[in-house]
This record gives sequence, structure tokens and C-alpha cells, in this order.
Amino acid sequence: MTVKEWRERLEVESCYDLISELFDRIEKSKLNAFITLNKDEALRKAEDFDRGKLEGRLAGIPVAVKDCISTRFLRTTCASKMLESYIPPFDAHVVERLRQEGAIIVGKTNMDEFAMGTTTETSYFGVVRNPFDLDRVAGGSSGGSGACLHGESVLALGSDTGGSIRCPASFCGVFGLKPTYGLVSRYGLIPYANSLEQIGPMANCVEDLALLLEVIAGKDERDSTNAGVDFRFEPKVRRFRVGIVKEMVANDEVMNVFDEVVEVVGERHEVFEVSLSSLKYSLPAYYIIAMSEASSNLARYDGVRYGYSLERLESWGRYFSRVRAEGFGEEVKRRIMLGTYALSAGYYGKYYLKALKIRTLVKRDFQRAFKDCDILISPTMPTPAFKIGEIQDPLTMYKMDVNTVPINLAGIPALSMPMGFVRGLPVGLQIMGNHFEENKILSFALELEGLL
Ligand code: GLN
Repeated sequence: MTVKEWRERLEVESCYDLISELFDRIEKSKLNAFITLNKDEALRKAEDFDRGKLEGRLAGIPVAVKDCISTRFLRTTCASKMLESYIPPFDAHVVERLRQEGAIIVGKTNMDEFAMGTTTETSYFGVVRNPFDLDRVAGGSSGGSGACLHGESVLALGSDTGGSIRCPASFCGVFGLKPTYGLVSRYGLIPYANSLEQIGPMANCVEDLALLLEVIAGKDERDSTNAGVDFRFEPKVRRFRVGIVKEMVANDEVMNVFDEVVEVVGERHEVFEVSLSSLKYSLPAYYIIAMSEASSNLARYDGVRYGYSLERLESWGRYFSRVRAEGFGEEVKRRIMLGTYALSAGYYGKYYLKALKIRTLVKRDFQRAFKDCDILISPTMPTPAFKIGEIQDPLTMYKMDVNTVPINLAGIPALSMPMGFVRGLPVGLQIMGNHFEENKILSFALELEGLL
């Protein structure tokens, strides 16, 4: 449901009834999109709305928040046993913004543990199911935020370190945008890999994506990487120079759908192929950087200050090891170990430094491409949603991120929107622009939305 449709319903029904109906649906749902519901507060806010006491650009609109985004007095677990009972004493910047604009926070969405994954299968709270086929994954790591847009929320926030907004958008047939690095404050986002990630909007249409981005973007001094710029959507219809990225590929079924989209685009815009040769190294570079940052970020979970803890053991070393051995899942442990290895003396130059050099090349390649192109396009994911449990091998799983991770290395914005179906399963189109060119991306997506 879109914001417009929800508002139309609000004209004839009370917000309280609509929100109650939403929670009925969530409580009966098989999707497992939520970890924690915010039912009492949501119903109170709905009553406020009905009494004319809730105002703002999102007044009375349900929004779901990914569970790695801190919410004051509302449990925030990162889908980890480590934070199973953690209740933050403060709101993330984006959550403050939602509240200021009158949004109704429905609950916290399910995800991969600490956002490490592509399917939500690493969640301590169980996998999120795909709304198109319950035996399939909804994508990840913001899988709950993607799936809940099928009748369990109107808007959702996700986070994207290497594709976590765009992947579930593609697998669930919804819209998702990873903003330019620095456009949205990360204050209150529990970090996985700081230099790569952004919080971004997910929705059922382009207009809603833009609205939510307008609300969450902007200045915040508590995030030192925040650019301090606002975002206003001003749709521009014009002829774009559109580059098809040769290195961003998919399987034959997805490519067939993509080729049809390219034809539609070609009728209205100038289309040509571009090659970004450094992209072939971006997957290993991404995983080395992401795991290195993760190994340092996750050192804070020591069982002392917050999160999972145990009765004290005789030695501090054993206590620390046991808390971490019991509190973290397999994938998180794997990444902490690999990240620690990549940063250790003797290997730092061989892995981490090399990955940073590749990152520079990727950035340069994109800058070169954006001299000739306004927009770049590719399939978002190389396949449609696969079966739960189908991919067991971590490396095969990492390879699913081949088209999405270069964007995070370069810090540029990218959107995923539905472009068609393969065997009844939705597949996404990735639309990329240069830094702070969200307006171009959204304008282009808005035009395509009416055509695809
Ligand atoms: N799948 C990627 C990873 O596991 C991306 C995750 C994300 O964007 N949070 O790192």
C-alpha cells in the first residue's frame, strides 16, 4: 500500500481501526518480518491522530524500522542473541525525524544478525519469508523491511552496507534506495562497517521513497560523516544519457527481463554500454573492508556494559571468550575472525591496504563513467529470490552481492525498483547516479514506474 492509498483510507476510517487491522495482519502473518512490535505506542499515536493531535509530513503513516536502528525504550536487537534484551535509552537521528513528522512506528524489522548477510537466514529470530513464495528468502539483510511492505507497513527504513536495502527490494518486488554516503545521519545506527553504510527508505512507489528520504536526510552534527545537506525531490523529465554497466551481470532469466527494460529505456533516452574494469575486484575488496571494520566495531560486545552476559568466571579472558562464543552466531564469528586476520601485522598491507587501493580505483571508474552518463543501470541481483537453505556455502552467498557492493565502495546513491518477473518472482532494476544526484535517480525511476 502506498502513502496515497493509506491517506485515502484515513479519510473514511479512523487511524485507530486501520492500525489495529495492521497489527491483526502482522500477528497472523507467516512472513516473520518483525522482531519486536510497538503496538501500544502505535495505537496511542493513532488515537492522537484521530483527535487531530498528530501532525507532520508523515502524520498517521505506519513506518517499520530495521532492528539495527536505535529506538528509545523499544528493544533493538540487531537480530542477535548478543542484544536480545537491549533497550536503547535514545533514538537514532532518523527515528527522531520520523517522530517529529508524526509517523507511527509499527515495530522493528527482522534482519541478518548485525546486518551480515543477504537472506536474513543469519537472524537469531528466524528467517523472513518471501511474500511471493513462503519457501523462499525475502533477501537481506533488511529482509523484514522489504517483506513488511506487503500489507504490514506502508513505509520502512533499511540500512545498506553492501546491498542490504536493494537486495530485499529486488526479491520482494518493492522500491529501495541507498542514499549517497553522508546524506542521512548514521547516529544511532548500530555499526557493522561505518565507511560503507547508510540508512535509506523502502516503499511501494517512487514518490513514497522520495518523501521518506526528504524526512530522514539532512544535517546532524552527531555523525561526523554527515554532509549537512537537505534533500528535496524535484522531478525533472528530460533525456538522460544512460550507461549499461557491462560488468554488472545476472543469470539468463534476469538478463532477459533486463534487456526488455533497456529497450523501453532506449525509446526515450540515449543508451550505451559502459565498462568499469575495476568492478571485477570490488567483491573481495568489499568483504575485506566490511569484515575489517566489523571486527573492530563488534569488539564492544564484551558482556560487561550491555547485551548478553554471564555469571562471572574466574578469568576475564575466559569470560570475554565465552560471552562472545555464545552471544554471536556463526556468520558474525566468521567475519570477526577474518576481519581480525586481515588487519593483523604482516597481513594488513596484503589485504586491507590493497582493498583500500581497489576502492580508490572503483571510485575513479565511477567518476569517469559519470562524465559521459547521467545514470547507470544494471540488474540489482543476479537471480530472483532463491529457496530458504539453498545456498549454504558462504562464498557463493557473498557472490550474490556482486552488483550492489561497488556502490557502497564508491559512496554513490543507487535505487532498486521492480522491473518484471521471472517464474512469478519479482526482479529488480538497479539505477545508479553520481554523489548527491538522488534527484536524477528518482526522476528516472518515476518515469520508468509508469512504463514497466
Ligand atoms: N550482503 C552484504 C554483506 O553481507 C551486505 C549486507 C548489508 O548491506 N548490510 O555484507
